[in-house]
Amino acid sequence: MRIVFLGPPGAGKGTQAKLLAETKGWLHLSTGDILRDAITRDTETGRLAQGFMERGQLVPDDVVDRIVAERLDRDDAGSGWILDGYPRNLSQVSALEKILGAAGGNLDAVLFLAVEDEELVRRILGRAGQGGGRADDTENVVRERLRVYREHTEPLVAQYDEAGLLRRIDGARSIPDVSEAVLRAVDPADGGPGA
Ligand code: AMP
Repeated sequence: MRIVFLGPPGAGKGTQAKLLAETKGWLHLSTGDILRDAITRDTETGRLAQGFMERGQLVPDDVVDRIVAERLDRDDAGSGWILDGYPRNLSQVSALEKILGAAGGNLDAVLFLAVEDEELVRRILGRAGQGGGRADDTENVVRERLRVYREHTEPLVAQYDEAGLLRRIDGARSIPDVSEAVLRAVDPADGGPGA
């Protein structure tokens, strides 16, 4: 299957995408992880992306579109994949459609993890306080990431809903509870009565 995880920063997309990928044997593609790795390795992409990421802003579309197109073109993407953190604006939605069109495929589902703002900030700053945070987990940058999400990414929820692809999941619960709901959303036979 071809799945997109959508949701605000701190909603648990990364955690849930990773769990689903492990369970199903699908590729997990996180543009944030790939960009952080590029920064660590000090590549040209990493140097380009770093300033945007430190400010909580979106890295230019051409950079992330290219990352996704290249990664999905590899053999191990054939059995299924999960996009985590992409697409993040309407232009990236179009780029993904082109990538999918070229491969002769469609998206199967967009899983939207819904969590309230206050809980998001609490989670992200909590993770920073425990030393597990990222460079962009400071309060000001978190607020900017939320603002950017509202302005650029949130419109995708309605768009994918109209396309009949959206499955809304309450992300404010425990990791195992959300993970069970995610499995049910991609495969109604999983975890359902009599399954
Ligand atoms: P994430 O790990 O998904 O929270 O992403 C961390 C940061 O990486 C974001 O705040 C952006 O600066 C950058 N980033 C990740 N994915 C994208 C994307 N699809 N488009 C633009 N910037 C992105």
